[in-house]
Amino acid sequence: MDLDNSSTFTEKDFFYHKELDHLKQNGNLRHLPEIIHEGKLIYLDNDTSTIPNKKMINLSSNDYLGIGTDSELQRLFIEQLPKEDFLLSASSARLMTGNFIQHRHLESQLANLYNAESALIFSSGYHANIGILPAVSDRNTLILADKLVHASLIDGIRLSPAEFIRYPHGDIEKAEALIQKHQSTHSRIILVTESIFSMDGDEAPLQKLVSLKRKYPQLLLYVDEAHAVGVRGAQGLGCAEEADVLGEIDFLCGTFGKAFGSVGAYLICRKVIRDYLINKARSFIFNTALPPLNIAWTSFVLDQICSPRWVQRRQSLSDMAQKIHRAASAQGYLIRSTSHIIPLVEGKSEKALEKAEKLRKAGFYALAVRPPTVPEGTSRVRISLTAALEPHELEELIIAIQRE
Ligand SMILES: *Cc1c(COP(=O)(O)O)cnc(C)c1O
Repeated sequence: MDLDNSSTFTEKDFFYHKELDHLKQNGNLRHLPEIIHEGKLIYLDNDTSTIPNKKMINLSSNDYLGIGTDSELQRLFIEQLPKEDFLLSASSARLMTGNFIQHRHLESQLANLYNAESALIFSSGYHANIGILPAVSDRNTLILADKLVHASLIDGIRLSPAEFIRYPHGDIEKAEALIQKHQSTHSRIILVTESIFSMDGDEAPLQKLVSLKRKYPQLLLYVDEAHAVGVRGAQGLGCAEEADVLGEIDFLCGTFGKAFGSVGAYLICRKVIRDYLINKARSFIFNTALPPLNIAWTSFVLDQICSPRWVQRRQSLSDMAQKIHRAASAQGYLIRSTSHIIPLVEGKSEKALEKAEKLRKAGFYALAVRPPTVPEGTSRVRISLTAALEPHELEELIIAIQRE
């Protein structure tokens, strides 16, 4: 690289420049897509592709129920909101002066819904996972995590002093063998998993995990339901509600940023754990509380979660997902997904890119996911379904999935 006459970067930035160059050469350089949103439709700003400014249905968002783009619901919320509650900042951490009525109300609402001792709000799922795991573990703790858990869980584990072992994805026998091996040397073993996995759309066997907990007294379960809350369970409380194990999960995390169409995250836990985290979880202590306005919106959404409209939307998301599973299987795709997150595994990266392009031409924006995000040879188009799809749009999607 010629540094002498470069006016675009200084010697100090050489390191960063080199790293970016390296990413680019390997086809892994990321950039922020310039997207224009119109409800559930999106199009690319300054698009230079073969289909400029084409409006597409967004199948890469986590707005699974269509709440995030429901302007009617937003209007209803604003109408019932008292003027004095239009607070755009908490201006402080919860332990200082940022603990508003809205935060306390949402936490008791959550604890009631889950029939649990307590709930604690975090600023995001990322904050929750990087704050809770280091706080609740020490050197005598072993953390066992599914091989495919989300980066925020990995980062939380990295920040903790615990010993850490990953078990093969979904392999509960292997997890049990590890528990047996380490039970005499560790005072606590925390098993960390997602309920619905974000890249494969398959599910952890929660009932089996709970039976492990009954067998091994020092085992605690940490379940991240980011992709399941809102869309699973009779009341939308997630896979743990569906599997009837709500009371058995020691650390039950959910996010508000996905199906709930809001922002933030929560932990459902025993009161002693909440009291402990308020004192020990650094991402909670040293972080400005979420704005009361956003909290009020989350409460508003949660209030309606059991209404017939939502029950029906959850059902329709599940029906649509099953239709896609069947259609994709019939096309020869290996479908491991049991949820609304449906990867079409193509194998080669070029094939996945071609498929994504084909979907875009048909009016659907679903991104290709390539290594290193997924293992080599398993490049895929990841469909993240939304209940906002109309029946005819679903039919069009099924046609677009067909292989040539
Ligand atoms: C999205 C996600 C998170 C992060 O939640 P944010 O609220 O977006 O920070 C955490 N865990 C899992 C499994 C997720 O999919």
